[in-house]
Amino acid sequence: MRACGVVWRLLAALVLFVPFMAGANLADVGAVWTDEVPTSPLGLRSMILEETTGPLDIQAVRAQVGRGFQPGQSSVSTFGIGPNPVWVRLVVENPDAQPVPLLLLAGTTWIDRLDFYVVHAGQIVSHQVGGDQMAEYLRPRPGMGYLFKYEFPPGSTEIYLRAVTADPLLLPLRLLGVKDAADMERATSYSYGLVYGFVLALLAYNLMLYFGLAQPSHRDYSIYLLFFGLMNLAYTGHGYAWLWSDWPVLQNYIILVLMVLFVCSGFRFATGFLGLHEYAPALARTLRYFCRAVISLMAVFIALQWQREAAFLSFSTALVFAIAMVALGWDAVRRQRPAGKYFLAAAFSGMAGTALTTMTVWGWLPFSMFSYRAVEIGILIEATLLALAVAYLVRQHENARHSAEQLARVDPLTGLLNRRALLEQGEQLKVAALRHNRPLSLVLFDLDHFKFINDLYGHAVGDEVLRESAVLLRNLCRREDLAARWGGEEFILLLPDADIQSAVNMAERLRKELAERVLWAGSESIALRASFGVVTLSDHASIERLIADADALLYRAKQSGRDQVHSAMTENQGDKGEPLPV
Ligand code: GH3
Ligand code: MG
Ligand code: MG
Repeated sequence: MRACGVVWRLLAALVLFVPFMAGANLADVGAVWTDEVPTSPLGLRSMILEETTGPLDIQAVRAQVGRGFQPGQSSVSTFGIGPNPVWVRLVVENPDAQPVPLLLLAGTTWIDRLDFYVVHAGQIVSHQVGGDQMAEYLRPRPGMGYLFKYEFPPGSTEIYLRAVTADPLLLPLRLLGVKDAADMERATSYSYGLVYGFVLALLAYNLMLYFGLAQPSHRDYSIYLLFFGLMNLAYTGHGYAWLWSDWPVLQNYIILVLMVLFVCSGFRFATGFLGLHEYAPALARTLRYFCRAVISLMAVFIALQWQREAAFLSFSTALVFAIAMVALGWDAVRRQRPAGKYFLAAAFSGMAGTALTTMTVWGWLPFSMFSYRAVEIGILIEATLLALAVAYLVRQHENARHSAEQLARVDPLTGLLNRRALLEQGEQLKVAALRHNRPLSLVLFDLDHFKFINDLYGHAVGDEVLRESAVLLRNLCRREDLAARWGGEEFILLLPDADIQSAVNMAERLRKELAERVLWAGSESIALRASFGVVTLSDHASIERLIADADALLYRAKQSGRDQVHSAMTENQGDKGEPLPV
């Protein structure tokens, strides 16, 4: 909780500090001098006029200088979603005798139409049109905005910009030298290369995990990342430059559509990752209906060509998403869901970024490269944390599988190996013994008159006797021996590196210890007795075969009065009944 507070305060400090970092200085209001062009956005040196009473042309606007125009209020002016067309005026002073080539970097990449006029000595000397509404307009530079080049002659020159868009309008303006513009474009390309490289690597990683492990979480997360990447490609203008450059129509709505799809794929991922269907099915349903409603509404707005409403819809959806993801993460942590903390941390950074960018674009926060590109930083942190979360889940999964496997090998009452595990591991011991020409012996024993104990004292006491026998057995075992519960009250000891003599000795010790161990059922003592059959591996017989031989000997021991050890050795001495049938 405290950590969250600190992060929020840091973010707030960053956002409040940003306008100062951007170089806003009230004393600078006025013309821009070509011999010392500021590197920061020029909002505070510009004059702004909104077209409130219908379209104005350049001549009408020039006539309003000094009356309708207002000084810019921040280093980057923001006008909200789908505002009236906006005019911006800048004055450029060239004190030298030579013309100075400069580039005006204006706007965001999704502005529909941007008219750039240059007025010198009372004449319109240049008019360029940028925007993404028509294929023939000057195109945006991906990740930057529109670059208008002009050679500013000596003396005073005016720039007029008219910006129109149905989307959110924010108008960062910069004047750049030719080399500075190239440097900036290169730095922007590198930074986006980094972002897309990272997103692509994570996408590939998650897709591989999906194809390897077939966990829907990986698939949903890949889709979420994909829509993030596409949305980013769309709003930075990379999509228009590389993917749909011939379809400016697509450009009008694709950012909004991808934002909505990004949100819905995020909700879908969160639903599966957190297991919402299990602990909050109503919420899972609500999220699904919410997404369907938003997508349908978006389709209607597009069909009606209501671009402004569509923009409102997608930006509000993004804000709802930002808040909802953090709330979901918080709830998951509260309920101690697996990987809930990772999800909360990831959601928090991703969503803080989304919220900062959305609010910046909407005009609620002052513009800066940090607040404008916060979503990218946030999502990269989020993606890293979610990759860790996914790895964590895989590890959990693996641990659960491992313990399930362990459980399947262990007898739950005594904790000894069960029949299946003994056969598997016994076979390995057999192979090793044959390969290294080492002895391997097997002791099979069965408690005497166990049914009687059950009948007399009850099943619970019978269980206790079985557990106690297992304890004695385990205490006698060396580390390399295998001890298993073969059936109801039958146990097996598999002794590597033990010849028949030491196996018989072991069986005798066990028989004595059982006999000495007295259990109490109330005031009555229970005597533990058992009969043993002991064999040793002589050829390539299977473990089952070895057990069958031991069982025959055990049967003899029972026949001969119980509470005794029979082995091939004792049988061959001929003092314990007929020879062993093979
Ligand atoms: P013998 O001396 O010939 O071996 O006679 P016995 O009574 O020990 O042998 P029998 O096979 O007739 O009876 C074994 C009994 O063990 C029957 C069964 O109900 C009981 N039994 C099997 N598994 C369990 C168990 O997990 N717990 C308990 N309490 N009893 C069990
Ligand atoms: Mg028995
Ligand atoms: Mg039995």
